[in-house]
Amino acid sequence: MSSDLPSYERAAAIVADCARELAQHRRPRIDRIDLADAAGRILAATLLADDDQPPFPRSTRDGYACRAAEASAHIALPVAGSTHAGQAPAGPLPAGAAWEIMTGATVPFGADCVVMLEHVEESHVENFANAIRLIPPRTIEAGDNVVAKGAQTRRGDELLAPGVAIGPAQIALAASCGYSSLEVFARPRVAILATGDELVPVDSTPGPGKIRNSNAPMLAALVANSGGEPIVLPTAADTAAALDAALERARQADMLLISGGVSAGKYDLVEPALARRGAQFHFTGVKIQPGKPLVFGELKGTGFSPYKEPAGTEGALAHEQRTIPVFGLPGNPISSAATFLLFAVPILAALAGSRETHPRFVLAHLSRDTDRKGKSGLTRFLPARCTFHPSVNELPQVATVPWHGSGDLTAFAQSNCVIVIPEDVARLEAGSIVRILLH
Ligand code: AMP
Ligand code: MG
Repeated sequence: MSSDLPSYERAAAIVADCARELAQHRRPRIDRIDLADAAGRILAATLLADDDQPPFPRSTRDGYACRAAEASAHIALPVAGSTHAGQAPAGPLPAGAAWEIMTGATVPFGADCVVMLEHVEESHVENFANAIRLIPPRTIEAGDNVVAKGAQTRRGDELLAPGVAIGPAQIALAASCGYSSLEVFARPRVAILATGDELVPVDSTPGPGKIRNSNAPMLAALVANSGGEPIVLPTAADTAAALDAALERARQADMLLISGGVSAGKYDLVEPALARRGAQFHFTGVKIQPGKPLVFGELKGTGFSPYKEPAGTEGALAHEQRTIPVFGLPGNPISSAATFLLFAVPILAALAGSRETHPRFVLAHLSRDTDRKGKSGLTRFLPARCTFHPSVNELPQVATVPWHGSGDLTAFAQSNCVIVIPEDVARLEAGSIVRILLH
C-alpha cells in the first residue's frame, strides 16, 4: 500500500501546484495598517516612489566636490564654499575651484565628483584662505563618490509589487517615500482542531492515560510565524459525531489544520469524517518519516469575508465556490510540526497573498556520521541542531539531537531544524553537505 503513496518530491509538487492556483485565484481582503506594525505582513498595493532618489546629487564622502579633469591635473584648487548634509543646494562651483562637502550633502552644480578628504593635501592660491590639491599620482573620474539625482529611482517608479513580504528593508524604503501606513493583505484565518480522547487542556493535570494537548499551541505558534491568524477550536473526541460537529464549525476558516486521527488505527476517524463532508483529497499519505499518514485535501467552505468581493464580479463567484485547504496532520508532535513546515506553509503563504516560495531548505555541514535509522524508501526528516559561525568562510554545522521518536518533545525543543535524508540514502557521512529546514 505504501508503494502507492507519493514520494516527498511528488507531494511537494502537488502542494506547490495548489499554492500557485490559490495565489492566482484568491485575493485576500486588504487592511491599511501603520508602517510601524507592518513587519511580517504582505504588501497588498504597489509601493510607488514619491520623488527621485536621491532627490539631489548626493556626496557619499566627506571631502571636496570638484571637476575630475581639474583635480586629476593636480593643480591647486581654491575652496570656494562649503555644504554639509541638510543644507539647501549651493554653488555653482566656479571654474578651477573645489567645494568643501560632507557625506549626504548636495554636490554643487558644476562639480562632477568628490575627492575624499584623505586624498588631498593643503595647497596655496593667492587671495584664498584655503586651497587643496589631489595628492599625485592619484587621479579621479567624473561620477566618483557622487550618486546622481534619481540614480536609484525615479518619481513614480514601482518600487515593490503586491505579494512582497514586508521586513525592515521594505519598511525603510516605504518610510523614505513618505508612507506612514501601508495596505497589506488580511491574515488568513487558520482553524486548528486537535483530536484525541487522551487530550486534556494545558492548565489541567492529566489523569491516567491522558496527556496535555501540546499540538494546538504549537500549531498556533507555527501558524502565527507563517503569517496566519490561528483560531484554536475546542478539542474533538475520537468519535464520528464529535468530528462532524467540529468540521461544521471549521468551515468558516480559510484553512484547516487537524491534528491526530489520520493513522490506520481503529480510532483514526479524521479521513472518513472529511470524506463525509465531501472533501477532495490531493493525497492521503506521503513516503516520508515522520509524517507518513499526512492528509491534504479541500473542503467546501462557507462564504466568509476575507475573500468577499463586490457581488457579480469574478472575485465574488470564486468566493462563493470557495474551498478550504485542509491538512490532517499526524498527532505525534514532531510529525505535526514537520508536516506543517513542509506542506502547510506553502499553502498558508499563498493564502496570505505572499509570492515567496516555501519550504526553504538551506545547506549545512554535517558534523557526525548520521544513519537513516528506519525503513529506506521514505524521505527522512531528523530533528537536529544547526550552529552558525561568525566566520564568513564556514557553512553552518548541523548534528541530529538524540531523540526517542516523533513524540519526543524534549528532543524537539533542543532542535532548531530538521536534516533531510533522501529516500535512497542509508547513511550520511560526517563532513558531507546536507539540506536542512530551519524552524
Ligand atoms: P494519532 O495521530 O492520533 O494516532 O496520535 C499519535 C500520537 O500523538 C499519540 O501518541 C497521541 O497521543 C499524540 N497526540 C495526538 N494529538 C496530540 C496533541 N494534540 N498533543 C500532543 N500529543 C498528541
Ligand atoms: Mg489520536
